[in-house]
Amino acid sequence: MATPLSRFPLPLRRLVEARAKRFELQVGVSYTHALAFHPSGRWLVTADGSALVVIDLVENRFERLQSHQETLSSLAFDRTGERLVSVGWDGAMCVWDFPARTFLRFSISGDRIHSVALTADGKTAYMVGHEAVLIGVDIQSGRRIVEGTGHRLYCSAVGLSRDESLVISSDSAGHVRIWNRDGKCLHMVDHAKTRIIPYWPISIRFLESGNALFGCRMYAGAVFNPTTHEVERRFEGGHLKSVSDAVALERAGLVLTSSEDGSVGVWDSTSGALLLVFKPEEKWVYALAVSPDQATFATAGFGGLVRVWDVKTVAMAAREPDKLALIAKSKCEACGAGLMFVEDADQLGCTKCGGMYDFASMTKKRKKHG
Ligand SMILES: [Zn+2]
Repeated sequence: MATPLSRFPLPLRRLVEARAKRFELQVGVSYTHALAFHPSGRWLVTADGSALVVIDLVENRFERLQSHQETLSSLAFDRTGERLVSVGWDGAMCVWDFPARTFLRFSISGDRIHSVALTADGKTAYMVGHEAVLIGVDIQSGRRIVEGTGHRLYCSAVGLSRDESLVISSDSAGHVRIWNRDGKCLHMVDHAKTRIIPYWPISIRFLESGNALFGCRMYAGAVFNPTTHEVERRFEGGHLKSVSDAVALERAGLVLTSSEDGSVGVWDSTSGALLLVFKPEEKWVYALAVSPDQATFATAGFGGLVRVWDVKTVAMAAREPDKLALIAKSKCEACGAGLMFVEDADQLGCTKCGGMYDFASMTKKRKKHG
């Protein structure tokens, strides 16, 4: 494999790293495998090792809540954001009353739990881990109500379809199982036989189309159709080490993948082309999350640093790098500080004094004067 980072000119990568970062906060010293935006977009929830960390993005502060006894591995909100479920390597599930920041702790498995998905009504959670069983849990009682058997090696990811009729899980042998809500296996994809989903899906998220987006450990990602069992798109290459997560920015037509080489890959969701690789972290990026309005996304990894990135700037760097370079050269006329996109508007704001500039007229002006 070619060295993918070198394909992207260093000035462009630096430009993204400097211009697209909206927010950065040190929330601890350990590592985080879990990241989720509250449905309101106000809070970003993550983990510092075994502690839950709630970041208030409006007030720019955070609180740490001790909950698990070992690494907290995955998080899921219900539709309203009143219920939050966290799972961890201690085999426990914590059910949070999010507004009150209190939780009930249930022992679910004797082994590590890696991934959780929650129904929109917040009543049932599906989880997988080292036990290699699809576990469905009643949130109220903490009791197991579903046990789907068939995986042979430990499971890394679980996802629930948007209409909540299907559950997909993957194991470390690279097998993918499609289940109904009662834990009946409807289909099993064995990559050794079919070669359609090679290399171990490490994260599973469903798209608006009904397809599933897989982050794939050994390459980058795949869009999988759970009805036809076909892989409709592959995202291959881009990273030098294992892939840790994949998310879709559906409005921007982009897919993001993160890697343990510290990089984030930005892909065209239709063609599967790699548009940009940038490096938010020196070492690892373990988790990605997209804000509910899709205006930002978050990255987290080692060292307790959580960062929030501007989608518009990253999309521009991926598709129109010359325009980003133009913004980077532009300075505030009043105070001389740098400019960046203002949330949800085609306007640039001064990073210092709050001065506003119209982006469209700026590009026109530049063109006229060559
Ligand atoms: Zn200014």
